Amino acid sequence: METTAPAAERAPAERTAAERNAAEKTDLTALSEAELEAFAEDRGQPSYRGRQLFRWLYDKGARSFADMTSLPKDFRRRLAETARIGTLEPIEQHTADDETVKTLFRLPSGREIETVLIPALDERGEAQRLTVCVSSQVGCAMGCAFCATGLMGFQENVPAGLIYEQVRRMDALAEERYGRGVSNVVFMGMGEPLLNYDGVLRSIGLLTHEKARFGLSPRRITVSTVGLARRIRDLADDDPGSRLAVSLHAPTDEQRSAIMPVNESEKTDLGALEGALRHYHQQTGREVTYEYCLFHHFNDSETDAERLADIARWVPSKVNLLMYNPVAGIADFERTTEARLDAFAGALARQGVTVTVRRSRGRDIDAACGQLKRLSKDE
Ligand code: SF4
Repeated sequence: METTAPAAERAPAERTAAERNAAEKTDLTALSEAELEAFAEDRGQPSYRGRQLFRWLYDKGARSFADMTSLPKDFRRRLAETARIGTLEPIEQHTADDETVKTLFRLPSGREIETVLIPALDERGEAQRLTVCVSSQVGCAMGCAFCATGLMGFQENVPAGLIYEQVRRMDALAEERYGRGVSNVVFMGMGEPLLNYDGVLRSIGLLTHEKARFGLSPRRITVSTVGLARRIRDLADDDPGSRLAVSLHAPTDEQRSAIMPVNESEKTDLGALEGALRHYHQQTGREVTYEYCLFHHFNDSETDAERLADIARWVPSKVNLLMYNPVAGIADFERTTEARLDAFAGALARQGVTVTVRRSRGRDIDAACGQLKRLSKDE
């Protein structure tokens, strides 16, 4: 079957007039409140029109300029000519046996991302926590050997407004299914969030903005990184108030470099990471969470646990242990056994480490960690 490549991957001459027209317009979802003010001023409007635009977009959730009835008609017409509201087109949605929902969205560029809603239900089936796992990039440049998204390579950053939009869509779904909205957001979907640093920081600004719909506490937002030391320092200095998780997955440079190419540089190896995390803790006073995925006979021995405990003492921290989710097309890794998982967790606990075993959610629909990747129809 012949398929058309996403608009962003076709030469300008091969795009339709509508696609070229859309690409030339300013995407308002990529602008902050201050930039919307400047945008309005550039079009001969007072700056408060920009603040009104912000409210329409992020408080009332307007998806067309025609809906923005408090703006003068002339300005709305001008907006329609020169701007667009980037949006997500839902393509597929799957619900797992444990009620985790994975949605595939199409971006304005035609490329696709996945967003996951993870409900934590009590014994009566009532949602105690509703977490959205957002994608910050299409694909990922980091190339971790065990990860499906890494197989795609980097394709594009998701703008702040469309990270926000992933949460808004899942919030509507959560309201519909559970009668309450999203409570937590984690940047653990496709992509390395700190490589879309500006977009991620802006999206946290939108999710926590008092005038926007969610007004989430930043403590309910977790940014999960592969451990880019310089960017962790930036995050500490800019401090949006969110929590930080580091995908560690190995306790020595040798082991880590074997599965995570990012560790091969001395700017991002464990030594650099330690310096960056000490700086992070000093600046923010917050603890760090380490994500550690157990691979059978690779990083799951008691010696590995003791080395991990040393790392966990760099700064106040906790460790989440994860079982590896096998990914089609990645043959080299095996899931550890329950016995080895228990022994590993026990060894960490004896060393005084706060440790939690995280059971993967949504495994039957490939929504678990490391499994997010859009498969083409041919695949
Ligand atoms: S694990 Fe995260 S950082 Fe590594 S390739 Fe996958 S998405 Fe990128």
